Amino acid sequence: MREIVHVQVGQCGNQMGSKFWEIISDEHGLDNEGNFTLTDSKNDMRLERINVYFNEASGGKYVPRSVLVDLEPGTMDAIRSSAYGRLFRPDNFVYGQAGAGNNWAKGHYTEGAELVDSALDVIRKEAEGCDFLQGFQLTHSLGGGTGSGMGTLLISKIREEYPDRIMTSFSVVPSPKVSNTIVEPYNATLSVHQLVENTDETFCIDNEALYDICFRTLKLSNPSYTDLNHLVSYTMSGVTTCLRFPGQLNADLRKLAVNMVPFPRLHFFMPGFAPLISAKTQNYLALTVAELTQQMFDNRNMMVACDPRHGRYLTVATIFRGKMPMKDVDDQIFNIQNRNSAYFVEWIPNNIKTAVCDIPPRNMKMAGTFIGNSTAIQELFKRISEQFSVMFRRKAFLHGYTSEGMDEMEFTEAESNVNDLVSEYQQYQDATAENDMDEDDEEEEEGDEE
Ligand code: GDP
Repeated sequence: MREIVHVQVGQCGNQMGSKFWEIISDEHGLDNEGNFTLTDSKNDMRLERINVYFNEASGGKYVPRSVLVDLEPGTMDAIRSSAYGRLFRPDNFVYGQAGAGNNWAKGHYTEGAELVDSALDVIRKEAEGCDFLQGFQLTHSLGGGTGSGMGTLLISKIREEYPDRIMTSFSVVPSPKVSNTIVEPYNATLSVHQLVENTDETFCIDNEALYDICFRTLKLSNPSYTDLNHLVSYTMSGVTTCLRFPGQLNADLRKLAVNMVPFPRLHFFMPGFAPLISAKTQNYLALTVAELTQQMFDNRNMMVACDPRHGRYLTVATIFRGKMPMKDVDDQIFNIQNRNSAYFVEWIPNNIKTAVCDIPPRNMKMAGTFIGNSTAIQELFKRISEQFSVMFRRKAFLHGYTSEGMDEMEFTEAESNVNDLVSEYQQYQDATAENDMDEDDEEEEEGDEE
């Protein structure tokens, strides 16, 4: 069995993480205390790979292989006293009291650094209990202090200890539409600087896109975190389908990375989901495979506020769920790629991979998840980087970071690393099967010197 250790850090990380466990417990037939309760023909499928995410405890209970970390007790108290509070292993709650005050430096260098060893002890214990650990997944936000600062500290420490295991993150990118903390672009940029080097794959979840989907598509005039996290949990359940249920394609984190990441730094994925229906209006929507596929590739269904038509796909994975003829799926994917060939780099042939899983998400007949490695994601990094630069140019709010011992240099390096990332995406967007990429390089270097 190839197990995954899940770590959730900070308020957002814990809120989205516990929603993920709620959804996947249900999909695998577990009640809110981890007892297997279903008896139907799909049981074998539900249980065959349940050990990827759950430990089997005495008494036949299944326990999430989840470590919950925060620098303040509030969010975790809420989880413990929720309906799913008894699902988690009580020893796996690791928390402090100080908080990080939306300050990346506190999460990464001071308060977080004090708690990091206790968290690593629990993570190590989970890792040691595995038969054959495939890797780690971490949920966090990039805009706050704990999930972003301490989250990326944990990632680098885990990386150091388990250099040959896959490191995955589900990273929530801040948007002024959702939060009004001014220093979020600082925290996010410092985090991306870490993620570029230390994760193998990062699923970008952009609060700006979540907000837009809630507002425009689901007609929620004032979306709450619960509404946003509803979308997050669909997405996380969708992208982990192939890891959790039997099948061939992208069956583990390493295979996913091998198929999706043509260059190690360009591992920031744009996830999407269809159909999009709100928690309140869930129904048995009748869709054709063609309609579903159409929606999966629609920019309004993407969890990142970037338009894929502004870039090109390096690679794509699609996961269809529910009962549907494999031939329909293959035909639709073939059509999409044929009709939109300009949006796929021609130098990676057959760059859409497709999987079908029989079990649909709850209350749906069929659903589809999209994972794109698109050069259009540079729009997201540009957005953050521009917000970063206007403040950093005047050194606004820097004292909060330098007073925690941070050097201004780290800000400069983070800024240029993110700008380099943007140029790299652009370079591969412009690359054809024949043109000489070095020429582009020179042009960009000249541009940088201005
Ligand atoms: P931390 O506890 O110090 O890691 O700070 P937070 O996780 O609260 O980070 C603040 C950022 O996360 C802001 O951009 C918030 O909009 C976002 N955020 C906080 N909670 C949630 C949540 O439950 N869901 C989503 N999607 N975003 C959240």
